[in-house]
Amino acid sequence: MKRKEIIIVGGGTAGWMTANILAHSFKEANVSISLIESENVPVIGVGEGSTPALRNFFDLLNIRESDWMPACNATHKTGIQFDNWSTVKGYQKYFHSFPSMVDQQTQNHFIHNAQLRAAGINLPANPSDFYLAAKIAQENKKPLANDNFPFEIDYAYHFDSNLLGKFLQNLAVNSSVNHVIGHVNDCKINSNNDIEYVVLEDDKQIHGDLFIDCSGFKGILINRLQGVEFVSYEKELFNDAAIAISTPLSSDSIKAQTKSTALKYGWAWQIPLSNRIGNGYVYSSKYVNKESAEQEFKEFLQVDGKELSVRHLSFKLGRLNKHWQGNCLAVGLSQGFIEPLEATALLLIQQTVGKFVDAYQQGNFNSQHRDNFNQQINNDFDGIKDYIVLHYTLNSRQDTEYWCDNRDNLAHMSNRLQQLILGWQTGRDISKLVVKLGLHNHYPISSWYAILAGYGYFPSDLRATEQSAYIDVLPKTQEFLRRCALNFPRYNN
Ligand SMILES: Cc1cc2nc3c(=O)[nH]c(=O)nc-3n(C[C@H](O)[C@H](O)[C@H](O)COP(=O)(O)OP(=O)(O)OC[C@H]3O[C@@H](n4cnc5c(N)ncnc54)[C@H](O)[C@@H]3O)c2cc1C
Repeated sequence: MKRKEIIIVGGGTAGWMTANILAHSFKEANVSISLIESENVPVIGVGEGSTPALRNFFDLLNIRESDWMPACNATHKTGIQFDNWSTVKGYQKYFHSFPSMVDQQTQNHFIHNAQLRAAGINLPANPSDFYLAAKIAQENKKPLANDNFPFEIDYAYHFDSNLLGKFLQNLAVNSSVNHVIGHVNDCKINSNNDIEYVVLEDDKQIHGDLFIDCSGFKGILINRLQGVEFVSYEKELFNDAAIAISTPLSSDSIKAQTKSTALKYGWAWQIPLSNRIGNGYVYSSKYVNKESAEQEFKEFLQVDGKELSVRHLSFKLGRLNKHWQGNCLAVGLSQGFIEPLEATALLLIQQTVGKFVDAYQQGNFNSQHRDNFNQQINNDFDGIKDYIVLHYTLNSRQDTEYWCDNRDNLAHMSNRLQQLILGWQTGRDISKLVVKLGLHNHYPISSWYAILAGYGYFPSDLRATEQSAYIDVLPKTQEFLRRCALNFPRYNN
């Protein structure tokens, strides 16, 4: 049987993650994998947070944390702390935890309280108070328990994206991925809408059976194919620019959390790595110019007047209608981008490549299978997009038009989000509603509770008459979490 040639264009995180997954998945198959990377186009070089799914990626490749984390200045992440998105008393901050086995009981308490609070009963329902993940982050601890503690807790990572790219490159090259340095200038598309070969700067042609476009925002291959269109999210999500600045690590600053603080025209991330803090301001250029945004961000970071390297980036939010067209698959920024509020880009890369490998191994190459695949990936993107839209809808800030416009943008949100909000406001059991609307396919039910309750987005009246009939389980929960947290070591000791 003729050897299949897979050509990946692009050596950013998407390209190298894809190369590793394919090299692993096809190690028994008669397949050759080459990755072409331009020296003239730098990688995006931001993207320092993940979801817990990144653990599965390293597990698949049999790479231990001790192998890759020090090489990428990586730290653990148990969730995201949202500050100042809400002005509701008691809810100006909340923590969105990655829930794990140990949270079963306390999570039930949280959902119980949140559901009753939505029905008008005065119970505390800030998710930060109910999860071990939040407690561990608050106490500057690592999510790695000592041997006495019988539960594992789930977590994700922070990392230096340039170092991660280098690490993955070495790994792939050692797994026999052929690394070609060259700038792709053109590609030849045949009458079936398939790519036959790409043409490099020196006119060299590289032929392949399957082309994977990991070339970043430009999507230099996929966008050449007929039938591929960009579906914009700009009506639902206003941000289109970011500023990135690194600052030194202070001795006590490692918390296993990404911090997301709402500013006047967007939000700022703060990500602790083992050697520095990665900071960024994601904002909408329709509401503020880049100079004012930079000024505001520097004041927030308290680095005004200091010599620091400042990067400005712009982006458009949305996705392709077809991620797999003909013999070309788009992966990474070439297939779409949702803003990094929930750090989901690497997750989408994993999902895309994982689902593609399943289809490829079954030999499913007809247009019906491609359509099914594309529909699944579109659902993955749109589901995450919905969750991110909800952050903006639920904000209660009054300080700028940006926040008010975001809140008032209900007409552009998806129908299922509108139904969810209506259900919540009318005190319905949203566990069932989330499932009915299919939202649990993208975030667990507890995360939908966390976001609604985390913003203090409750009906204003405490309409229940029998307030005293309900027992507040929070004190017991907190005592349980305090004792659990004793089993985890602190950073910096
Ligand atoms: C502000 C911001 C914050 C983000 N934060 C997060 C986060 O916290 N978590 C997360 O998961 N993701 C985040 N992301 C997304 C994340 O950075 C990307 O998904 C990830 O880095 C993958 O990028 P990529 O490999 O698709 O593209 P790139 O890094 O842009 O790589 C493109 C590659 O293609 C090559 N190339 C381009 N043109 C050619 C050509 N003509 N010929 C040959 N090669 C070519 C380039 O040389 C490069 O190697 C963020 C993105 C932005 C913009």
